[in-house]
Amino acid sequence: MLKDNLQEVEARVAGACARAGRSRDEVLLIAVSKTKPVEMIEEIYQQGVRDFGENHPQEIRDKVPQLPDDIRWHMIGHLQTNKVKYIIERACMVHSVDSVRLAETISRAAQSRGRRMPVLVEVNMAKEESKYGIMPEDTERFIREIASLPGIHVNGLMTIAPYTDHAEENRRYFRDMKKLSVDIAGKNIDNVDMCDLSMGMTGDYEVAIEEGATMVRVGTGIFGVRDYSR
Ligand SMILES: *Cc1c(COP(=O)(O)O)cnc(C)c1O
Repeated sequence: MLKDNLQEVEARVAGACARAGRSRDEVLLIAVSKTKPVEMIEEIYQQGVRDFGENHPQEIRDKVPQLPDDIRWHMIGHLQTNKVKYIIERACMVHSVDSVRLAETISRAAQSRGRRMPVLVEVNMAKEESKYGIMPEDTERFIREIASLPGIHVNGLMTIAPYTDHAEENRRYFRDMKKLSVDIAGKNIDNVDMCDLSMGMTGDYEVAIEEGATMVRVGTGIFGVRDYSR
């Protein structure tokens, strides 16, 4: 039952908060529903979850009309500039800004609809070849480049840590990302708040919370394994 999965994840989130001396409401649990049908999303919604994450723009576009209005949709996956149109009115935040061109496109689209989109900058903390994201050492410069765009607001950083069966191996990346965000916050760049750290997935969200995550993105732990064959 999805309800049991959610309860287990909730208990672990609460446990990690307690171990870290943090309050439970400092951490937002985002239920990552990519590839999952709306019926499953509804089941989790019934349990009180309002924040859902998707990584394909078209999937957000297709699911939104079928589900309650008060869901907050987080765009967490790589976003191509020509797909921004699908999410600009539907997403509450884009977690995966990784190029100036994408930031500019989001800014323009948001501005033309009279809004400002909260964004996170995706950082490739482990410098993996296979991953998107800005290198840690380039992050401050990148943020300075996009900070003044009128249709976005930089709310913090996001990272996807390496896939591992040993969550402890990712602790250093989470710790370094927290440090990076504190460093950048200290620069007091206009239009930039480093209030959010989106890090931690099913395999490592407890460690991420212990290291300062304010948003964890949990898919498999809540919805079960994904079937990409369909
Ligand atoms: C799929 C995905 C997740 C969730 O992954 P799980 O390991 O299933 O929890 C989190 N973040 C991003 C960016 C994803 O694409």
